[in-house]
Amino acid sequence: MAAKSRCIILGASHAAAQLAPTLRQQGWTGSISMISNEYALPYHRPPLSKDYLAGTKTAEQILIRPAAVYSKCNVGITMGVTAAAIDRSNKQLLLDDGMALDYDKLVLTTGARVRKIDIPGVDLNGVFYLRDLNDAQQIKMFTGANKRAVIIGGGYIGLETASALRKLGMQVTVLEAMPRILQRVTAPEVAAFYSRIHAEEGVEIVADVQAVSISGAKQVESVQCHDGTEYEADIVIIGVGVIPNTELAEQAGLKIDNGIVVDEYARTSDEDILAAGDCTSHYNPIYQRHLRLESVQNALDQASVAANTICGNLKPYSALPWFWSDQYDLKLQIAGLSQGYTDVVVRGDIDGSRSFAAFYMREGKLLAVDAVNRPQEFMFGKKLIMQGNQLDTAQLADDSLSLKTLLTS
Ligand SMILES: Cc1cc2nc3c(=O)[nH]c(=O)nc-3n(C[C@H](O)[C@H](O)[C@H](O)COP(=O)(O)OP(=O)(O)OC[C@H]3O[C@@H](n4cnc5c(N)ncnc54)[C@H](O)[C@@H]3O)c2cc1C
Repeated sequence: MAAKSRCIILGASHAAAQLAPTLRQQGWTGSISMISNEYALPYHRPPLSKDYLAGTKTAEQILIRPAAVYSKCNVGITMGVTAAAIDRSNKQLLLDDGMALDYDKLVLTTGARVRKIDIPGVDLNGVFYLRDLNDAQQIKMFTGANKRAVIIGGGYIGLETASALRKLGMQVTVLEAMPRILQRVTAPEVAAFYSRIHAEEGVEIVADVQAVSISGAKQVESVQCHDGTEYEADIVIIGVGVIPNTELAEQAGLKIDNGIVVDEYARTSDEDILAAGDCTSHYNPIYQRHLRLESVQNALDQASVAANTICGNLKPYSALPWFWSDQYDLKLQIAGLSQGYTDVVVRGDIDGSRSFAAFYMREGKLLAVDAVNRPQEFMFGKKLIMQGNQLDTAQLADDSLSLKTLLTS
């Protein structure tokens, strides 16, 4: 490629922080510019609901890379600027400050934003969503021992937040609109496990209840629910999912379908525009369908693929999705996607202990594993999913048998 080629990365988070150094490693000699509407160097988002919120890590400690790495790789980072449009015919990224930046390759790593709810009182002081460092910093100003927190949404972010706030000695209630927590992502057995653990840790979980209003004089004081119940609150945190940031791509005429559609080489429908991370929809050969994933692993892997593609080194993306969630002393590692499962096989005492693995099965094959404090089951589970063999459920459930023995060599 010509030395003066320009690559612009829009967004400066997990995907971007992986992409820029990988471009250099792969031999990109042109300029690299990251454009971000945040005011921080790329940082790890997962600790925002975990160690950072609980106060055991600082903003400095959650940086993905130190500033020196970007200087060494000669990567320019412009912060606090929002891209307003993509002019594909002139190959320019138009910023909201009036600047127009020329690109030869543009990579969209615009991620996702929180889904907002529209109920009275949602704009009161003390009501928050949690997506970025600024949100977490604001939330921290409202935390403190014995203060009352109401969390709307019993997904992973809501539950991790509950765990972090309990560590700070707060009184925590989680309100979940569905009949159980983690309804979209886990089996009833796993949800029941997390309900038990949160109860043991002193968190009140109320399912099947919809928050309909939030009230307070100067700041939040309580949350009202559809069934007439009311929960006092010094702070409310809403975690009800995210929406991919696809508008710029859509306005530019790129193909969108629940995310910016990319091929296995991270290319959009414009050969000079690539995309990676939470904002994309890609075809997964293991599950044979298009996926939009909200996970660090996907952002990193797709970013590496995009960097390789830009440097003319076509390497298809075909990773098995995996995720994690930390709550209290529990490390949940999830391999694969459980959608479409017909049976769940549990290994370990899910009702009485703090360690188990749940295997999601379909037609005798393993689709996904939820492993709590079980790194071996996670590791071998990934391999068993990839092998795609018929498995004996009695063996999967047998805690005395290593999963390694079920692998075909
Ligand atoms: C609290 C929390 C906890 C999480 N925990 C986990 C976990 O335990 N495990 C896990 O795998 N994942 C977790 N995730 C999800 C994970 O953080 C995301 O999958 C990951 O951040 C995706 O990275 P990304 O680079 O694709 O996008 P993002 O991190 O969303 O970054 C996109 C960036 O682009 C910026 N941007 C968007 N549009 C524009 C524009 N027009 N102009 C300028 N800038 C723009 C955004 O402001 C943002 O800074 C968590 C997320 C949160 C919020």
